[in-house]
Amino acid sequence: MNAIEEFYRVAFARYGDLEWWPADDPFEVAIGAILTQNTSWKNVERAIERLKCDGLLSPNTISDVPMEKLAEAIRPSGYYNQKAKKLKAFVEWFREELDCDFSAGDTMPTAHLRESLMSVKGIGPETADDILLYAFEKPVFVVDAYTYRIAVRHGWSPPDVGYDELAEIFTSSLDEDVFLYKNFHAILVEIGKTFCTKKAPKCVNCPMKPTLRNGTPLVIV
Ligand code: SF4
Repeated sequence: MNAIEEFYRVAFARYGDLEWWPADDPFEVAIGAILTQNTSWKNVERAIERLKCDGLLSPNTISDVPMEKLAEAIRPSGYYNQKAKKLKAFVEWFREELDCDFSAGDTMPTAHLRESLMSVKGIGPETADDILLYAFEKPVFVVDAYTYRIAVRHGWSPPDVGYDELAEIFTSSLDEDVFLYKNFHAILVEIGKTFCTKKAPKCVNCPMKPTLRNGTPLVIV
């Protein structure tokens, strides 16, 4: 068992299945993935709730609603004017590429779908991978700031690693398994928020301390 597998084994024993991503359907996942850019999940939940209350959480309604009304509905997520444009751009792509049907992505190669998603204005690698993994159920590993911090502190990756390179470190160390990728990402986020914080790792109380090679983080990032 390699170090990343061992980390997940210990983490799963502690956290179990975090059942991430919380959403009623894949479309809500995709909308949440865009809304979560640069904000907390609590704010995303409030924005999604407002979209639901206003009857706006569907491809047709997001297409048809005036930009200002959409922006107002998602105001709690921050950067709401930009995000309203991104939601409309995503829905336009979703209609043109997949006829508003996530299952149409089943037969598409993941790399093609990823490239296509990233051609949408406002969708970068992390958002694309959130959508690919949690909405399309494609086996991609989502990388974010939490993943980076934990990977570097545990010595799995050099500090100057790029996004795709870091994702590759995980996928090459793990079985290709959508549930594993989903839950591992969710667990990294949980640990990153609680223990492996930006300011300083709180290893003393962290359940992952036994998996540190020398009992201490290698590089403080
Ligand atoms: S807080 Fe320490 S033990 Fe926990 S994940 Fe971060 S580096 Fe590892």
